[in-house]
Amino acid sequence: MPLGQGPPENYDELITKAYMRCLECKVSLIDVTKRVYTCNNKECSPDPSNGEAVYWCKECNKTTEHAHKRERVKGTAGFPFTSEVDKEHMTDE
Ligand SMILES: [Zn+2]
Ligand SMILES: [Zn+2]
Repeated sequence: MPLGQGPPENYDELITKAYMRCLECKVSLIDVTKRVYTCNNKECSPDPSNGEAVYWCKECNKTTEHAHKRERVKGTAGFPFTSEVDKEHMTDE
């Protein structure tokens, strides 16, 4: 691979978003059968429809702390980024 064409510096972040991985354990949450939790706070999830959001798996939702209230993602067909993270219900808290 030629110099300058390596992965971008935020590669890991991009991958996390692209594959919708748990913020804590990095397990893939793309499997719709898994329970996925997100934070609807704008600081954490500024644009869920574009993957600008944080997610946790069921286990990490239970075992880790987060500053905001986490909500279960109501996954449907087209999950992850067309799922029901409703911007109207996002808070500025
Ligand atoms: Zn996890
Ligand atoms: Zn948050």
